[in-house]
Amino acid sequence: MRCPYCGSTNTQVKDSRPSEDHTTIRRRRVCADCGGRYTTFERVQLRELTVIKRSGRRMPFDRDKLMRSVQIALRKRPVDPERIERMVSGIVRRLENMGENDIRSETIGRLVMEALKALDDVAYVRFASVYKNFREAKDFEALLGELAGTESTDEDAADEAIASADD
Ligand SMILES: [Zn+2]
Repeated sequence: MRCPYCGSTNTQVKDSRPSEDHTTIRRRRVCADCGGRYTTFERVQLRELTVIKRSGRRMPFDRDKLMRSVQIALRKRPVDPERIERMVSGIVRRLENMGENDIRSETIGRLVMEALKALDDVAYVRFASVYKNFREAKDFEALLGELAGTESTDEDAADEAIASADD
């Protein structure tokens, strides 16, 4: 891993340790040429994913963006950050396991909704109201009905929540 200070490739790993949940490995590195020290993170990536937005625009999948839109929905909710981290990792793993490199943004939105529904009702309603782009009160009532376990009538999902996190 090239030294960020002097550009040398003559660098060594001094220390490796997994994060608490063992999904990442943090490595402390030192450059043999300039003595510079820096840190790298290693995380499993099964597949290079490309997101296809509703506009047809393609962009590389970005885990950090997904995390940000989830965190917006969960703002000030009493949910352990480790659970959020696991939830996002779970979504990414499911996307990777779909067997396609191209993923529609609607698919990501649907998985986020499923995950939030299991994690926190308030965050689910927040995310869904943006994602489904509600225009009328009855849309909201349909969603609350869904939470209460009744049938949903509106499957016409939009990907605005994902889109707003992109821009
Ligand atoms: Zn260096």
